[in-house]
Amino acid sequence: MNRKNIKIIRSEKRKKTIQARDINGVLHVYLPAGMGEDEEKKWIDAVIKRMENRRKRHALNSDESLKKRARELNKKYFGGKLEFEIRYVTNQNKRFGSCTHMDKTIRISHRVADMPQWVRDYVIIHELAHLIHPNHSKKFWELVNQYKYTERARGYLMAMGMASDEKVRDKDRASS
Ligand SMILES: [Zn+2]
Repeated sequence: MNRKNIKIIRSEKRKKTIQARDINGVLHVYLPAGMGEDEEKKWIDAVIKRMENRRKRHALNSDESLKKRARELNKKYFGGKLEFEIRYVTNQNKRFGSCTHMDKTIRISHRVADMPQWVRDYVIIHELAHLIHPNHSKKFWELVNQYKYTERARGYLMAMGMASDEKVRDKDRASS
């Protein structure tokens, strides 16, 4: 979680209790007024960690829904002919996903699990298309652009600092 997505609310009425609530992706942290800067930082760090762990657990629990959605998209955009394994991983914070062509395994960043479905669909389609084109060639993009929210989703991911997936060995990776 990025600090930009955190809102601190200091309250005179609050004595000791610290509360955190996730409101539309913005973490609202309620702190008692008059807390020292160091102490505030300590609490905020603890809250972030707790929320991150909760998100990670949530993502791991949603592997089933990810698989189901990937099967649907395989059917819709690839004639159901792709074979693959897909799951969330928690060690890809800057990249939205990766596709290992050799063993047909797709790994999606757990951060994507919390994004809107049209963004998640784009990420899945992008990685599925890599099973056919292990690069970012023109042909690859023709395939991915069948999905009408591709441009919008790319903009969304860029704004989240997740514009690319795992390095693809080709000359055209600048356009990832
Ligand atoms: Zn890619």
